Amino acid sequence: MKKIIRVENLKKQFGNNVVLKDINFSVNEGEIITIIGSSGSGKSTLLRCLNLLEYPDDGKVLYNDISILESKHNTDKLRAEVGMVFQNFNLFNNKNVINNCILAPMRVLKLGKEEAIKTAQANLEKVGMLDYALQDVKTLSGGQKQRVAIARALCMNPRVILFDEPTSALDPEMVGEVLTVMKQLAKEGMTMVIVTHEMSFAKEISDRVVFMDEGIILEQGSPQEIFNNPKNTRTQEFLKRFT
Ligand code: ADP
Ligand code: MG
Repeated sequence: MKKIIRVENLKKQFGNNVVLKDINFSVNEGEIITIIGSSGSGKSTLLRCLNLLEYPDDGKVLYNDISILESKHNTDKLRAEVGMVFQNFNLFNNKNVINNCILAPMRVLKLGKEEAIKTAQANLEKVGMLDYALQDVKTLSGGQKQRVAIARALCMNPRVILFDEPTSALDPEMVGEVLTVMKQLAKEGMTMVIVTHEMSFAKEISDRVVFMDEGIILEQGSPQEIFNNPKNTRTQEFLKRFT
């Protein structure tokens, strides 16, 4: 199986706080990986190192077998191919939905406006938000904003999408609509790395579950292995909180 992303001996610290200690991890083409673990265990920092929103202190990050840590590597191109969906959407609130979706494709992929709009419409349709194309983002609900953020990521035609707690900022009644869109993407074969606290969703969608604890990957395996038969006592204790 082709490995799209490979992380070797990754280390990252902020001041004296060593946040990622020695991470070895890879993402296969078409794979759905969920990352679980307590707050502060380094999950966001790991995701952010995969598209250089954070720069690692040591180790390697390879995308398609090429190191992304070389100075000559094109960060814009990397972020187009490795998309990201954030907990707090990171949309432009004062722009309308479609303008949020066409900005990066025009600037980075150099699409003409008409083509960018066509792509945006197709992806907004996919997430059920085409009817809102001309509405300002600030008028939308959280669930709608997150679906727009997913459409925006799709507009770059990414090879992988990283999701950092995409439903954690949502009112409970809006979680389902976002998870449904993500399940649909998974079914279509999108490669996805998802940080989440939605354990039943993780169990259902994942090919592999990664448990992070204090800056290391303590345990990883199939949803069966991690949720039904966790080996490490830290994993067991963490999962107890969700039952
Ligand atoms: P998680 O996503 O698992 O909650 P994070 O990766 O966000 O964990 O954070 C891990 C640790 O790194 C925390 O102690 C956090 O305070 C620290 N941290 C994260 N980002 C920064 C930053 N930009 N500057 C300083 N400390 C940070
Ligand atoms: Mg986080």
